[in-house]
Amino acid sequence: MEIKIQNLIDSASCYNTVRELRWPEKVCCPHCKSIDVIKRGKDEVEVHKQRYECKTCTKRFDDLTNTVFAGHHQSLKVWIIFLYFLGLNLSTNQIAQELSLNKDDAQYMAEILRNGIVDKKPEVQLSGEVEFDEMYVVAGHKGNPEAVKKKIGWGE
Ligand SMILES: [Zn+2]
Repeated sequence: MEIKIQNLIDSASCYNTVRELRWPEKVCCPHCKSIDVIKRGKDEVEVHKQRYECKTCTKRFDDLTNTVFAGHHQSLKVWIIFLYFLGLNLSTNQIAQELSLNKDDAQYMAEILRNGIVDKKPEVQLSGEVEFDEMYVVAGHKGNPEAVKKKIGWGE
């Protein structure tokens, strides 16, 4: 039998990872940046995806709102593993093979991930640098950060 990385990683830890990446301190409303946020249960389909309601602007959001992971057909797990492989400097073709993706999909995902995981909107205060550092930690890279940064073009 073939060992597949997708089978070794659970969806719950992928959602934890996204929360730690985008909200290292406190959950913050993606609409108004308030931290006065309450939990509103889990998603019915993606049972590990936490939903929230902002007490300041009353809008609802979830773990993936305003991230590049929202609105794609690939599961979060595939995106997170993809990110990990990028951190290891695997080529897009190698990643495609490991994750059984077609090359066009893999190319598209790599381009998206290289621009950071939180959508760049004018009001977003996160700097690319911060995002890169967090990615860097997730990828578990202990090599040369400058070289990796150059290669995957983070922090642009
Ligand atoms: Zn809000």
